[in-house]
Amino acid sequence: MKKFYIETLGCKVNQYESDGIASCLVKKGWVRTNKDQPADLCIINTCAVTSRAGMQSRQAIRRIIRENPETRIIVTGCHAQTDPDLVHKIEGVHQVVCHRDKTGIPDLASDLIRKSDPEKEDSTLAFKPVDHTPANQFISFPEVVQGSMTRAYLKIQDGCNAFCTYCIVPYARGSSVSMPEQEVFRHLELLGDAGFREVILTGIHTGMYGRDLRPGISLSDLVEKIDRLRPVERVRLSSIEPMEMDDRLIDCAGDGRVLCDHFHIPLQSGDDDILKKMKRPYTSGHFSRVIRRIHSKLPFAGIGADILIGFPSETDEQFTNTFRLIKDLPISYLHIFPFSPRKGTPAYDFENPVDPEVIKERCRLMRALDRKKREAFIRDNMGRRLKGLVQHKEDRQSGRLKAVTSNYLTVSLDPALADKNQALKGKMVDLVLERCDKEFNLFGRITP
Ligand code: SF4
Repeated sequence: MKKFYIETLGCKVNQYESDGIASCLVKKGWVRTNKDQPADLCIINTCAVTSRAGMQSRQAIRRIIRENPETRIIVTGCHAQTDPDLVHKIEGVHQVVCHRDKTGIPDLASDLIRKSDPEKEDSTLAFKPVDHTPANQFISFPEVVQGSMTRAYLKIQDGCNAFCTYCIVPYARGSSVSMPEQEVFRHLELLGDAGFREVILTGIHTGMYGRDLRPGISLSDLVEKIDRLRPVERVRLSSIEPMEMDDRLIDCAGDGRVLCDHFHIPLQSGDDDILKKMKRPYTSGHFSRVIRRIHSKLPFAGIGADILIGFPSETDEQFTNTFRLIKDLPISYLHIFPFSPRKGTPAYDFENPVDPEVIKERCRLMRALDRKKREAFIRDNMGRRLKGLVQHKEDRQSGRLKAVTSNYLTVSLDPALADKNQALKGKMVDLVLERCDKEFNLFGRITP
């Protein structure tokens, strides 16, 4: 039996696609190995979101080739799509596969292994130029992707039409395309039947779901239907843009509803001029109204935000506008990204870059604010009864079971449960949050 290893860089969509490729290979009789085991084939699923991510992808490819000199190497993912020449130049890469051909990797893998002479110069599968045109249709894996986590991911949308000035993703993944509604339900039902209690609906710009389908459907339509039909116990949105967050989605969340009361909403900047330069189609006022609306209907909802710090020409005052906005809003946690210019995007050529030391200091201030936000959110939830999904993997340090709540808290459970470990894994439990340590590790107990 042939063995393969997949190294994944970047976002949850890449992770999902790696698991999709793996499911198809396993179906064909391949065995998935991990990093330290020998493999006949290594697939590196790369990321291009920043220049650094591209560089890390190339480093990962070189490392894997060094450590596995006899292994066939396939490189795919966003970096393979945006910079195929750079990737193909790396000695030892046998094949570069663009996004639209990803689902063909299992067939390609068998061909590649069958060849007696794997030298890429002689290969009939020799490098073909990557097609940058949008895929125009949603590409899904024939197998339902289960992955190795307690909570399954389901990619329902791909690509983006927004072209924010700092972002390479639309160039890498093409325009927005969606999984047809009946396919979404087929996948959810199969995942529900396989025992998954939670599915995370993911995409590159998930809020654009359905706009390319005929007849058209919106993300809110889809989630309302999932709420009615309940193919799985709960679903979570991986992230949603401020313009696409509406009352109908909020109404699908909370007690007895299917949608987790957890919304991750990219803000990027709280200054309207910077938002314009980023080509983000909303104002700080709109973002503020969205957050307050969620909080008024779901006061304990977990609300996360992405912040991009040090966009070209961002002044101290503009940074302060972002800081104040976040400080005043009921946000529970932040994901903070220092701006780094990405070649191939308009912002790469923007004037007045911010001094890296200034960016560092602004990130430090924002991280301190993030800690305060997390503390406040945990305090609000202390002593509350919450629904948590017990994970298959125990906490690495303590060996305790842990559960993920609907509003996105990860809670370590009572060690006395050790003998019930297997029975509880993958189950939904009621729990009470009891304590939090300095590193924000949370502890709670299951309630009857
Ligand atoms: S919405 Fe903007 S930041 Fe998000 S993927 Fe699309 S272009 Fe990139």
